[in-house]
Amino acid sequence: MSSLGYLWLYRAIDMLDGVEIERVYSDTKTTKIMRDKISLIGISFTFDTDFLEIFKFLEKNKFAFKAAERKPSDPLIFAGGPVITSNPEPYREIFDFMIIGDGEGVNVDAVRICQELQNAPKEAILKALSKVEGIYVPSFSQPRVKKLTKRLSECIYTPIISDKAFFPNTFILEVERGCANRCGFCLASYMNLPIRFVEYEKIIASLDLGLQYTNKIALLGAQITAHPRFKDVCKYVEKRIDGGEQINMSVSSLRVDSFIPEIVNTLVKAGQKNLTLAIEAGSERLRRVINKNLTEEQIYKAIDVAIQCGLHGMKFYGMIGLPTENQEDIEEIVNLTRRIKEKYKRFDISFGFSTFVPKANTPFQWFGRDSEKSLDAKTNYLKKELHKLGVQVSVSSAKWDYYQAVLSRGDSNLTDYIIEVYKQGGKIGAFKKAAKTLGIDTDYYALETYEYDKSLPWDFIDIRPGKDFLISESKRLVSITS
Ligand code: SF4
Repeated sequence: MSSLGYLWLYRAIDMLDGVEIERVYSDTKTTKIMRDKISLIGISFTFDTDFLEIFKFLEKNKFAFKAAERKPSDPLIFAGGPVITSNPEPYREIFDFMIIGDGEGVNVDAVRICQELQNAPKEAILKALSKVEGIYVPSFSQPRVKKLTKRLSECIYTPIISDKAFFPNTFILEVERGCANRCGFCLASYMNLPIRFVEYEKIIASLDLGLQYTNKIALLGAQITAHPRFKDVCKYVEKRIDGGEQINMSVSSLRVDSFIPEIVNTLVKAGQKNLTLAIEAGSERLRRVINKNLTEEQIYKAIDVAIQCGLHGMKFYGMIGLPTENQEDIEEIVNLTRRIKEKYKRFDISFGFSTFVPKANTPFQWFGRDSEKSLDAKTNYLKKELHKLGVQVSVSSAKWDYYQAVLSRGDSNLTDYIIEVYKQGGKIGAFKKAAKTLGIDTDYYALETYEYDKSLPWDFIDIRPGKDFLISESKRLVSITS
């Protein structure tokens, strides 16, 4: 319920003449539309392990998992979202078709085509869909599928506000899409190039609309403060707060260059209690390798602004197991923390770590993960040393991150595997058991470093800036030595 993309599509499709639409979740008990009246089921696929909920939904509604095994009278089942856009191959046998890229317009086109051809056989509908840019129909041969990149001509917002949502009663609106920083591991950046901004006037109109219904606003975007008029958006909200309105505003993320008093002050006034800063790596060398290019000086400046604006602490995010990382880089996280603690005696800091997951269509897609043993040793060291400095540490599960990597670099051989994972219960042990049952070498997908000239399962997705650029950028980044 807090996922913006599909709610917006729901709104767009709901406005079409002659189309009835209903939102359904994997735990929905009854539906308004009768099963035999459904012609299309669209699924939002955001995280790699969403397939578990998707299979639950298909099983509950008595649909076969594989498209080829579904009946001619069954609806066409399609999916879209970041997982599908970056690498649809593990799911090619599951869905009748998939949307690659920004779905605002093409989903509506797909619905229209299905509406026009509603009495035609499935094959004829799929053939027509395969001719639309951005639609991947695995049962038709399409040598390349172009990822769709839309201009942000409107400000997308959550048309439904719910107290049952992950972010309860919150009006979420998109201010920009993408991040121009291009960190080597970052799918959010590479999948959404070039960065695009919503016009200021449209943001304000959406804000005004949302504030009629709730006082909780969340601004969305991977590099929100890169918006040329973000400061004006802050000023606008601050003015309304100063005028007596109680507004709670949060932002999805802040980059270091946006830790400026004008922005942080507004966020603090609007109820934001904690600020987070993704420093990713401890040493400046490794931050340059990943293209984060964040200096220690900038980190201190960010803390200065936080203190100046009345905050007492900050959370840092780091990533372990990045390409070229060595023990010195890990120790440097502790050393940097020590220096911060010495400089800012009463300022609380905490750390959240995740482990590197190679993502398709990024410059680091060729690099395998660090072994579990090595990651455990590094995270245990960090927990021990940072605790000594009074810093709280949380670490993502390296085991889940491993299987995320398997899926993100997966190919069509994984379809039976994910079905087996689901059948075995979908817990972490099921991933291991299913691999053993089917003889799948999961290390090949998660741990192996591939040669640059290897053909990759997702190469047919035509996504800017293209594989040649990714190779040269990858080589440039990992050759940075100081
Ligand atoms: S700054 Fe953040 S969002 Fe931007 S590319 Fe780097 S990790 Fe991704």
